[in-house]
Amino acid sequence: MLSVNGRSYRRPSGPVVVVCVDGCENDYLTEAARAGVAPFVGAMLKDGRIADCVVPSFTNPNNLSIVTGVPPSVHGICGNYFYDRDAGAEVMMNDPKYLRAGTILAAFADAGAQVAVVTAKDKLRKLLGHKLRGTCFSAETADAGTAELVGMPVPSVYSAELSEFVFAAGVKLMARKRPDITYLSTTDYVQHKAAPGTPAANAFYAMMDRYLAQLDAAGATVALTADHGMNAKHRADGSPNVIYLQDLLDEWLGAGDARVILPITDPYVVHHGALGSFATVYVRADVKKKIQALEGIETVLDREEAAERFELPPERIGDLVVVSGKHVVIGTSKSRHDLSGLKEPLRSHGGISEQKVPLLINRRLNGVPADRRLRNFDVFDLALNHAH
Ligand SMILES: [Zn+2]
Repeated sequence: MLSVNGRSYRRPSGPVVVVCVDGCENDYLTEAARAGVAPFVGAMLKDGRIADCVVPSFTNPNNLSIVTGVPPSVHGICGNYFYDRDAGAEVMMNDPKYLRAGTILAAFADAGAQVAVVTAKDKLRKLLGHKLRGTCFSAETADAGTAELVGMPVPSVYSAELSEFVFAAGVKLMARKRPDITYLSTTDYVQHKAAPGTPAANAFYAMMDRYLAQLDAAGATVALTADHGMNAKHRADGSPNVIYLQDLLDEWLGAGDARVILPITDPYVVHHGALGSFATVYVRADVKKKIQALEGIETVLDREEAAERFELPPERIGDLVVVSGKHVVIGTSKSRHDLSGLKEPLRSHGGISEQKVPLLINRRLNGVPADRRLRNFDVFDLALNHAH
């Protein structure tokens, strides 16, 4: 057994592939299976479980929870973006210096296992590959040699092919190196645009299904989960359903008194305009009740309440945490959001409404009671300790 961040993991007896499908609301899987285009996923769904992801239901906090097996209160990554109080600046949180825990991947590699990590977007590569002695690359910055290995041209960062490249790489690596542990992490480009059951979504899951079936045929334990779900966040007329919280606070308190941080912010905002259902606010004035009273707000928590409920590092969130409802997003100021790239009605995530995610394994699970609350970051525990 290997101990990582206080949890124990059994060494795999055969190859194990953990897949984090970005933005994979469970309905995508059930709809694709129902349409008959994802038979392998359909078979896994029969014993499939539903797990809770980390809130904020964003990509980085959840990918890091999955590979460390612990929540952001332990590993430190609580957003894609945050206000660094020490530096007095708003910064991306994709630098490993913000990571406070080692990964299961690096620990197994140090113990002699062969480990491979492939991510779609490069923003995750450094965090996932932190101190990892093994294969680790992103589809976004794949070079010609990698493209040749994968057998696909390097795709555009805004494309379904970026995720296909990840799956194809996983299959090729399995054939060539047969890693003991493989972690594949895709991008939610398709999920931000296409609802479950639509032709574009079903095409994505049909593609995924073919690759996962190949990994299964190669004898791998395949475990699938998601970093977060995805919901429609627009009005009936198709316009994004936004509460511009910074504008409201400026109106209530005067400009410069409050700072709204959107941890969804990243370099790739084209498909969501940096609009999600979670915000953190640095503010001295007591505006909690006033924000809570806004239509479309699900909950407002003080720093300590939020840190406890969502298992977040309190020093990396604001005085308040604001979560909007299932079909509502939070913005800063209207003028700061470039929505020109939003060609389809907004779909996004970040809230409690996107917390339920699938957790599927192509093996029978032993010793996992039906009433155990599963987290997406239990996936390595299930795949290594409970799948036979
Ligand atoms: Zn994501």
